[in-house]
Amino acid sequence: MRYQSTRGGVSGISFKDAVLMGLADDGGLLLPETIPSLSEGDIDALSRLAYPELAFQIISLYAGDLPSAALKTLIERSYGTFTHPDITPVVHEDGVYILELFHGPTLAFKDVALQFLGNLFEYLLIERNQKMNILGATSGDTGSAAIAGIRGKKNINIFILHPQGKTSPIQELQMTTVTDPNVFNLAVEGTFDDAQAIVKEIFGDVAFKNQYALGAVNSINWARVLAQVVYYFYAFGRVQRLTGCREVDFSVPTGNFGDIFAGYIARRMGLPIRRLILATNENNILARFVRHGDYSLGTVVSTPSPSMDIQIASNFERYLFYLLDEDGAAVTQAMADFRTHGRLHFSDTQQAKVREDFLALSVDGEQTLATIRAFHELTSYVLDPHTAVGVRAGRDLAGGECPVVCLATAHPAKFGDAVRRAIGRDPQRPPSLEGIEDKPKRCENIPADTQAVRDYLIQNAC
Ligand SMILES: *Cc1c(COP(=O)(O)O)cnc(C)c1O
Repeated sequence: MRYQSTRGGVSGISFKDAVLMGLADDGGLLLPETIPSLSEGDIDALSRLAYPELAFQIISLYAGDLPSAALKTLIERSYGTFTHPDITPVVHEDGVYILELFHGPTLAFKDVALQFLGNLFEYLLIERNQKMNILGATSGDTGSAAIAGIRGKKNINIFILHPQGKTSPIQELQMTTVTDPNVFNLAVEGTFDDAQAIVKEIFGDVAFKNQYALGAVNSINWARVLAQVVYYFYAFGRVQRLTGCREVDFSVPTGNFGDIFAGYIARRMGLPIRRLILATNENNILARFVRHGDYSLGTVVSTPSPSMDIQIASNFERYLFYLLDEDGAAVTQAMADFRTHGRLHFSDTQQAKVREDFLALSVDGEQTLATIRAFHELTSYVLDPHTAVGVRAGRDLAGGECPVVCLATAHPAKFGDAVRRAIGRDPQRPPSLEGIEDKPKRCENIPADTQAVRDYLIQNAC
């Protein structure tokens, strides 16, 4: 399989090069040149497999330049860190199926992709005798999952900036209690936006970026999307076996359009997904796009589901590529228009096409907490606030005949405040969080100053 850019300036790239490139050199995002199309028989066979074998089959379709034995080992290592034997189990509660994606090391779905990406980076860097220094800013989930994916890996150091005292206590501890020598936590004396601005400025200095082999782990890396395609097949197989259904709906709590875009790829491969239900909180640019063709920038507001408090969805460009009939020039133009005007318009024909793929709902903070409360009263199952957004949208929009699978993107213990407000008590802590407050910590305070961060990188780069 070869890869091309959404902006038309890069093509013929191997899987390995696509992974190390991250963002395409023309500023676009990488996509496979064709999407493999599977028959009903293929899908039936795949959906019976255990998670690691399924991951091997799906990823192999897109990564022909990785030797099979190596890919098998990478997958075993990546999912060996999950605490549930099924990796991503499906449970049935009060009429909806819940795909639990939070059994990895940091209790959020990002582990599914970042455990794999960490192992894959290490493999490719050793093979090429190269090094990489990962730099990123986080408001919570991404940073901890990235650190968990990279800790202890050879040829790679990771530097994660978080705003000092402004992430949730659990999220901060999940980062700062990782004491491997290749992990550098920097608590920036400022806001998340300050941290983000520093990272952007450093990446903008191309000479510096090349000299220190700076890399990123944000959701623009194709390998992250690919690893997430797997669990759509997995969940479909489990639900089909339980219900005999021919089609399912998936409801996906969405911020950066990464997770739901993986579902879109699965659907294009032939997985019988009737509709993808796109669930947002009040930061609803994507829901407005699906419902009214209105893709216009709003201001970010804080909600009980902070990992979806996003207005610019970095993976949206990948979907745009298909919506604009795989025309790189048209995508380039649209992205330039969006930068200038903060909005995009879509024709009636395009809007009709979008609604063939997606349904969407924006769920506000009150509704989110009410959903956690009502679901708990009925079933005693505790939803985290992100999952609750998806469950609410799934219930409101799913079409009767066909089962709905709601993606559970985080363990409720990660978002104890919201859960407490909803059900009046703390969620139960899973074993990985027991005693986390008492573990040794490794973190440096640093001023919100680009030069200070740059100096720190120079001293600690691998
Ligand atoms: C990152 C995240 C999301 C949003 O996922 P996207 O791929 O950005 O759409 C949802 N829920 C949780 C818990 C997350 O950490």
